[in-house]
Amino acid sequence: MPERNPYQMALEQLDKCAKIMNLDPNIHEILKYPKRVLCVNVPVRMDNGKIKVFTGFRSQHNDALGPFKGGIRYHPNVTMEEVMALSIWMTWKCAVAGLPYGGAKGGVICNPKEMSVGEIERLSRGYFHAISSIVGPDIDIPAGDVNTSGREMAWFMDEYSKVKGYNVPGTVTGKPIIIGGSEGRVEATGMGVAITGREAAKKLGIELKKATVVVQGFGNVGYYSAYFMEKLGCKIVGVSDSRGGIYSKKGLSVEHVSKFKEKTGSVVGYPDAEDMTNEQLLEQECDILIPAALENQITEKNADKIKARLILEGANGPTTPEADEILFKRGIVVVPDVLANSGGVSTSYFEWVQNLQNYYWSKEEVIEKLDKLLVKAFNNVYETYKKYGTEMRMAAYICAINRVAEAMKVRGWV
Ligand code: NAD
Repeated sequence: MPERNPYQMALEQLDKCAKIMNLDPNIHEILKYPKRVLCVNVPVRMDNGKIKVFTGFRSQHNDALGPFKGGIRYHPNVTMEEVMALSIWMTWKCAVAGLPYGGAKGGVICNPKEMSVGEIERLSRGYFHAISSIVGPDIDIPAGDVNTSGREMAWFMDEYSKVKGYNVPGTVTGKPIIIGGSEGRVEATGMGVAITGREAAKKLGIELKKATVVVQGFGNVGYYSAYFMEKLGCKIVGVSDSRGGIYSKKGLSVEHVSKFKEKTGSVVGYPDAEDMTNEQLLEQECDILIPAALENQITEKNADKIKARLILEGANGPTTPEADEILFKRGIVVVPDVLANSGGVSTSYFEWVQNLQNYYWSKEEVIEKLDKLLVKAFNNVYETYKKYGTEMRMAAYICAINRVAEAMKVRGWV
């Protein structure tokens, strides 16, 4: 396969869906392009007194269903094409979950690991100020992503509020709870993975009380996915982090492994389990595999060695298109990232709703609403998957494109 940039990949996926669903060519044409991409150059005074200019982007793909929504990442490899592709995928993710949002994404080319907290704060405020005319609670609501979290969201919210002259908590999500963040946001993505896993297991006849689970990555998404799958009665037999994996047929206690990792910095070396590489872990015996670390982990090289019956994509983009085809032929069901990890953006939506109302919900209320929302989204995708007999990823995209297309039609865009 020749190297394609992420934007080309997003377009290829769109073309494939358009063919399967016989999409109106006018709608297809509009969906190929972000509505707007803003590029900003942000001067930042570094700690050594010198000015350094950082380049950042905000891509807003489609807002037929509602204001744009999507995270902002800080990474040295950010490109405009990557941000554009990610904004397209956000349009699909929001539409699959049934949220009243369109897709957006932002990114700044920088390496926060080599910057002081002060430099990161000045960059964050400068970047958000520079994009402030195209964001806001009714226009575009950013959130955290790679290398950005509650700390940056608080600075963004503060900077935007200064521009406006009053508090605007609904301008970003993923904020600390004290300034309008939502209860349940921290565990929401992993919980969503488990909820979609529970629904998929029902359809596939997998009995969760007897099911074994391997989780790649033991960070926010991986840990909470393992935690909630264990709560559903599954036996967690393998987990991993960047240093490697551990596997035990007898099963692992998520709580004990987490305590061990807290003490030693890694899951590797956990007693009563076999240490192995991340590559080996993916190929171990299990019923359910949850890649929850990085992109491109399941590829044409290992897809024929995967033993799981069901894959829940906690991470974004862990399966390559080539691997997707191999898994589909082998009858292994993949619940795609846009559905499996949409618990995060759905709870972000709840955060925004609470901000707009200035009325805050308990964690129980958030969890109950999240469960309902994801069950509905899963069943929608599952019906489409059965109807078209295609991969569940394509089915999810078809559901999403249908919703966006309908909104575009009734609004008279085509
Ligand atoms: P995180 O940084 O909290 O955790 C990542 C984990 O992956 C860490 O345990 C790290 O050690 C491990 N890891 C890194 N390299 C690895 C490797 N080569 N092999 C195995 N493990 C490795 O990040 P996160 O927030 O849990 O995000 C994980 C994935 O989920 C990303 O793809 C992210 O885009 C996606 N995601 C996250 C959220 C969210 O709400 N946090 C929402 C949707 C999607």
